[in-house]
Amino acid sequence: MAKRDYYEVLGIEKNASAEDIKRAYRRLAIKFHPDKNPGDKEAEAKFKECAEAYEVLSDADKRKQYDQYGHEGLRGAGVHDYSHMKVDDIFSMFGFEDIFGDLFGGGRRRSTRPGGPAKGFDLETTVELSLEEVAQGSEKTIEFTRQDNCGSCNGSGSAAGTKPTTCPMCGGTGQVAQGGGFFQMITTCSRCRGAGQVITDPCKTCRGTGKIPHKRVVTIKIPAGVHEGQAVRVSGEGEPGKFGGPRGDLYCYVRIKAHPFLQRDGNDLVCVIPISFTQAALGATIDVPSLTGKKQLKIPGGTQHGDVLRIRSQGLPDMRNGRSGDELIQVLVELPKKLNSKQEQILREFAATEDKNVMPQSTGFFEKLKKYFGTGK
Ligand SMILES: [Zn+2]
Ligand SMILES: [Zn+2]
Repeated sequence: MAKRDYYEVLGIEKNASAEDIKRAYRRLAIKFHPDKNPGDKEAEAKFKECAEAYEVLSDADKRKQYDQYGHEGLRGAGVHDYSHMKVDDIFSMFGFEDIFGDLFGGGRRRSTRPGGPAKGFDLETTVELSLEEVAQGSEKTIEFTRQDNCGSCNGSGSAAGTKPTTCPMCGGTGQVAQGGGFFQMITTCSRCRGAGQVITDPCKTCRGTGKIPHKRVVTIKIPAGVHEGQAVRVSGEGEPGKFGGPRGDLYCYVRIKAHPFLQRDGNDLVCVIPISFTQAALGATIDVPSLTGKKQLKIPGGTQHGDVLRIRSQGLPDMRNGRSGDELIQVLVELPKKLNSKQEQILREFAATEDKNVMPQSTGFFEKLKKYFGTGK
């Protein structure tokens, strides 16, 4: 079948702008979309014809080639063969999932045919942050290794000057049928793993894999208030896609280093501080650690063991609204393990005012006890 003129396919003038081309393609792609024309092979063929025309005319270089030399000019320009592609794969190639998304109800899931354009693998890495960095937001430089397309063969895996040949097992379809008669099982071709082509003369640099590991350094911005285990996605920093698909993404998972005094509780920070029982009883001003240095905290008289005091806005910012949490100080009242004689004397006087039964001094204790029972009080 002779190829039609691309401008004719999209129904546009030769001097159409990039925006005109996009609009025309969008309109026709929706018109001929298989979801709207179930079982209509002609519509599907037209849909694919439009995709091919759009690929060429939306690319300045390919369009120039085509304008000058027609279809001949695109030989070897890497224009995709859409006749074997799945409709969903064609969407993802042009990043048009969005425009179709609102027409066909929500994001369409890519179902990649083996051998069709596929997004590259996502990569994961971890980045460690201090609580101070969580509070302020930070920029981190991350070094990681990823598989990139081999420079010698441009990722094809074939030695320079050679090309992969059509897979002899599947005849280039990437799929083989097993079993006969009514129930045939279609499976991915084991020889070419669905690519439809096999490498006969592998590239020396990458030994035919098309990939070699590269060190990569990226700087990523980590928003303030990030939580342990959350990931920052750096789009397009994953491994290269297959057959014209886009690169995968890099996910940086956040780990938060332990702080010597502060523990995170949501957007609040919790600090446990020991105070003496006199500080608790009488009140005091003490220094407490915070993310921005020492802070003075007033402990009111009568503070109980386990009470929580609050320093406003000394916590971590909320990721969504930026509002800061608080620092919560939990006080642990410590009692003296030993008293000197003066302290003991003062405390006994204090106890006497409380009308509470405290342990008598050991000297003369049994004396007193005898007296107590003797008097029969
Ligand atoms: Zn190579
Ligand atoms: Zn094959």
